Amino acid sequence: MTDTALVAVLLATVAGALAGGAWAAGRRKARERQRPLFRSSPHYTEGLHLLATGQLEAATHELGKVLREHPGAVEVQQVASHLYREVGKVERAIEIHRDLLAHKDLTRSERAHALASLGTDYRKAGFLDRAAQAYADALQVDPRNLHALAGQQKLHEEQRQWREAYEIQTRLVRMRKSGDGLVLGFLQAEMGREALAAGRRDAAEEAFLTALSLDRRVFPAHLGLAELWLDRDPRRAAQLLEDAVAAAPERAYLAFPALQKAYAAAGEASRFAALCERLVSQDPRDWRARLALARQLRDGGGASEALGLLLRALEANPHVLLVHLEVWRTLRALGTLGPEEQRYVATVEGSAVYVDPHICTVCRYRTDDMLWRCPHCHEWNTVVEERVSPAAGTR
Ligand SMILES: [Zn+2]
Repeated sequence: MTDTALVAVLLATVAGALAGGAWAAGRRKARERQRPLFRSSPHYTEGLHLLATGQLEAATHELGKVLREHPGAVEVQQVASHLYREVGKVERAIEIHRDLLAHKDLTRSERAHALASLGTDYRKAGFLDRAAQAYADALQVDPRNLHALAGQQKLHEEQRQWREAYEIQTRLVRMRKSGDGLVLGFLQAEMGREALAAGRRDAAEEAFLTALSLDRRVFPAHLGLAELWLDRDPRRAAQLLEDAVAAAPERAYLAFPALQKAYAAAGEASRFAALCERLVSQDPRDWRARLALARQLRDGGGASEALGLLLRALEANPHVLLVHLEVWRTLRALGTLGPEEQRYVATVEGSAVYVDPHICTVCRYRTDDMLWRCPHCHEWNTVVEERVSPAAGTR
């Protein structure tokens, strides 16, 4: 979750808590004509202000003080427990949720929400069995509690139980009345990959096709289908991969190895270069297409042409070490390197770790590999190649 989204969610929670507070106060008005006492605490006002300005640690601190003064303030417990979890103090969040659940006068939805939140605390802390139990308890209290269902779904994903995750996600999509099939598609693709690994080709094909009928952007489903067709009909596999590239050109490089195999098996190796050229003309910053093209040219004896391509790739992407390495290899192929330079290239090739930096567009989590599901925020299809622009003053 981005900071802005997180603050929005927390503010919504606060607004809900305030509305609940106002309602509860209204109920009490006849009896006592009094505002809830915690609202007169200066730490409460300060806590809300800090929350609204996105200073989560400080907000947690202030609301913690309110809780010490007014241990029974349900609304503050609800907000503070979320905050403690978000800032990584899961044990404290669990403690508050347990205190909250000890209240006898919670409404049905308050109780379900607190149980679901406790489930998420346990999930974050790695207690998966306890998390599953808390979510189940929440659904027993309120079978339509979205928070508990979403938590259960994530729990299944974390344990790679794709079918169970898919079933719950289907219910969630229906309850939220959202037409979004992307997550469902990715879950089907995972089911397909599992079937493929177990040699169940028909089941795999069915899952990949279902994934693509849910959302064309499910790139691993295109890859899986192509893999199924590669031996039987490489032309068809190439066609499937070309469709994938057309649907998501920014992911094209993930199809390059399979495309090269498919074109070669179909006796049309030159089509790979044509595809790379097309990608470069669509997006001049696509260094991966230039790199793939340069390698092919160099292997085919066109090293100086390859060098030109690589230098153009470097102009737009000076941070990409893989391109630098390829430049050196191409210089070696051109025979322009003396013995010292050759030793240098051999050392670099043998020792350097060529990471391929990727970043999650939702939570900014960084990884050295392309992942379909972010291991930090657990969203699907949010990891992209991390790009750095040339520094000011360079071309
Ligand atoms: Zn993420």
